[in-house]
Amino acid sequence: MSLLDDLYREIILDHYRNPRGRDTLDHPDIVQEGANPLCGDELTLSLKLGDGKIERLRQDGHGCSISQASASMMAETLRGLSLEESEALMRQVKAMLKGESHDPLPDDLEDLAALEGVRKYPVRIKCALLAWTTLEEALKRIK
Ligand code: ZN
Repeated sequence: MSLLDDLYREIILDHYRNPRGRDTLDHPDIVQEGANPLCGDELTLSLKLGDGKIERLRQDGHGCSISQASASMMAETLRGLSLEESEALMRQVKAMLKGESHDPLPDDLEDLAALEGVRKYPVRIKCALLAWTTLEEALKRIK
């Protein structure tokens, strides 16, 4: 395993062991559930909206390290973003995971780049995508 793989693995395991934003909200505006039956990953997103932004986002779920790390990274990254910015980021990450885009992610999102490594393991891509497809469903309900 290369040095880079080790580094990516460390980032993913850190998010898995210390998940960011792991909680549920008391009075969420939107609750969206998602699942990846291929692996048994489950995720619930709770969103509180305000002023055209995702004011708070909490994620709660269980499953493999990649699915849970991806949700943790998402919770950390979306904090305070506008709905448009959130949607743009969601599209960019989905394209990266599916191998449709090779545009580098912004520097402050370098944790997310660790997920790029899953492209080598097609069966795990759906694990990494779960958080983002669940977010996509949540955002659809806002419009
Ligand atoms: Zn999984």
